[in-house]
Amino acid sequence: MRLPYKQSLLVSAITLFVAVACSKPAAEYRQSLFIFGTVVDLKLRGVSDQQAKEAVQVVERAFQRMHRDWHAWKPGELSALNRSFASDKPHPVTPFLLPLITQSQLLFEQSEGLFNPAIGKLIALWGFHSDELPSGPPPSPEAIAALVDLAPGMDDLEVSNGQVRSHNPAVALDFGGFAKGYALDIAIDLLHKQGVESAIVNAGGDLCVSGDHGGRPWRVGVRHPQGVGILAAVDALDGECLLTSGNYERYRKHDGVRYPHIIDPRDGLPVRHIASATVIDREGGRADAAATALTVAGPGDWYHVARRMRLKYVMLVDEAGTVYMNPAMARRVDFQDGAPERIIISDPL
Ligand code: ADP
Ligand code: MG
Repeated sequence: MRLPYKQSLLVSAITLFVAVACSKPAAEYRQSLFIFGTVVDLKLRGVSDQQAKEAVQVVERAFQRMHRDWHAWKPGELSALNRSFASDKPHPVTPFLLPLITQSQLLFEQSEGLFNPAIGKLIALWGFHSDELPSGPPPSPEAIAALVDLAPGMDDLEVSNGQVRSHNPAVALDFGGFAKGYALDIAIDLLHKQGVESAIVNAGGDLCVSGDHGGRPWRVGVRHPQGVGILAAVDALDGECLLTSGNYERYRKHDGVRYPHIIDPRDGLPVRHIASATVIDREGGRADAAATALTVAGPGDWYHVARRMRLKYVMLVDEAGTVYMNPAMARRVDFQDGAPERIIISDPL
C-alpha cells in the first residue's frame, strides 16, 4: 500500500522520533541488587537503558564472586586460606583476593593496628561469624585473653610470589570492615570500563559516586547511628566515597548489655563508646577501613588516627549523641533534623 505524500512524511517523522527517543540516553537507570546481605542500589546516568542494564550485570557478577571468595566463614577462597594458616606453609592466593590482603596490611600499619582484619578468630569467638545475631552470654575472659595474648596482626603475614603464609597460627582473616568499601571501588571501576561516567553505587548508605547528577553533585545521606533514616546530607563529588561504621546494626545482647560487632584488637572487647564513624575518601576500601579504625580509636584518639591515615573528612557520633568532626567535614554536612545538641569541632586535620 502506498501512502499519500503528506501521510508518508508524517510516518517518517514519527519513525525518526521513535528511533531518536530509543537511542537517547535515559535520564536515570536504577536497579537494586541483593548482595552481601544488603540491598545495593545503583543509579546510572548518561547511557541508554540497554547499556546500563548490561553494565549492572557485569557489576552483579563481580559482587557475587566477592561474596563467595571473600567470605570469612562460608566455604570459598578466603576460608581455605584461613585453614592453611594452621600449618605455616605458603598458600597460593588468586589476584582477586591478594589486593585485599596487601592493602589491608598497609591500612593495619597506618591505623596502628586498630583496623586489624587478622582478628577473625576473635570475631568468631564473639559469635559474629553467623548470618543471625548471636545470643547468650559473652565469651569467657580466659577465651578472649588466650587469643589477644597471641596478638594476631596483618604483620604476621608474609606475601611473596602470589603466596601467603602466616607466622602466627592465631591469624584468621575477616574483611567485614573493608570488603564492602573495596567492592564499591571495583563497581565504579567496572562501570567506567563500560563507558558509564555518572553513577552512584549505594550499599545501605555506604557508597561511591562518579560524575554528577545532571550538572549537580550527587546528594547522599550519612547513615544514622541508631540505624533509622539519615543523620545528615552531604554533596558527594566526582570520585568520592562515603562509608560509615556503625555499632547499632550488628550486636549481641545479654542481660540488657549490648556487645557490638566492632572489636578492639588490644583487649578483644567490643567497642562501646562510639555509635558510628563516617569517612569521606576517594577510595572506598580505605574509607571503610578508616571508619572501623576510628570507631575503635574513640573520642580520645580519633584525631591522631585520622592524621596518621591522612584522612580529610571525618565524623564520629558517640553513645551520648555528641558529634565530633574536623572543620572540613563540618563545612560539608547538612544535619537533617536540626543540628545535634553537642558538636565538637577539632583542629584541621
Ligand atoms: P559496618 O558493618 O557497620 O559497616 P564496619 O565497616 O566497621 O561496620 O565492619 C564491621 C566488621 O568488621 C565486623 O563485623 C567484623 O567482621 C570486622 N571487624 C570488627 N572489628 C574489627 C577491627 N578492629 N578491625 C578490622 N575489622 C574488624
Ligand atoms: Mg569499615
